[in-house]
Amino acid sequence: MPSHRNPPWARDELILALDLYFRVNPLHTSEAHPEIQELSALLNALPIHADRPDQEVFRNPNGVYMKLCNYLRFDPSYSGSGLTRGGMAEGAIWDEFAGDKKRLRATADAIRALQRSISPAEVATEVPDLDEEASEGRILTALHRRRERSPVLARKKKAQVLKQLGALKCEVCGFDFADRYGDLGLGFAECHHRAPLATLAVQSRTKLSDLAIVCANCHRMIHRSRPMATVEELRLRLQ
Ligand SMILES: [Zn+2]
Ligand SMILES: [Zn+2]
Repeated sequence: MPSHRNPPWARDELILALDLYFRVNPLHTSEAHPEIQELSALLNALPIHADRPDQEVFRNPNGVYMKLCNYLRFDPSYSGSGLTRGGMAEGAIWDEFAGDKKRLRATADAIRALQRSISPAEVATEVPDLDEEASEGRILTALHRRRERSPVLARKKKAQVLKQLGALKCEVCGFDFADRYGDLGLGFAECHHRAPLATLAVQSRTKLSDLAIVCANCHRMIHRSRPMATVEELRLRLQ
């Protein structure tokens, strides 16, 4: 039987809700608050959930208001009791972002600014597995991937590095596909965009120096880490 429940909140949505929580205390307002209404409309427009069994209640103002209330139990400045709802997902977002409001704001702003630049289909293909989703959520992860996979830039970057260093070695582990696989690996490497995901909205054009040459394994490990490790941080973690 198909489920009639709407999908669980994605990280992107929880980030936007936490950002609003710090501006609008749910204890002093209701679902009628204009910013709650606005977030409800935004969540309905995000290119994340194609599956909405109950469009009527999907992220409606009441649902958004309740989500803000879910954050209360993680807030040390709230001393009330009785709010036992609020799950693991909210706790994880609270732990990652509540201590760094600047990053929270930058991430929420980037999601708002860029949500129209990517389609639901593209988000689904670029981030097929939640294991690959950065802490900043699906939309920014998908945009990051699209940008770092630009064939034109990748070609230019690889040509530049080959010319300068004579080989395409992974900047994390030193792996060289041509060394290992012979002719088959000639010219092969992946490019990773170094800019933090929250800066995607303000960072204009990608420069070749923004890209790092990485092997497929190290690239996946960078994307799997939360917060996303830099090339240098992952190098330090190599066993
Ligand atoms: Zn590597
Ligand atoms: Zn990458």
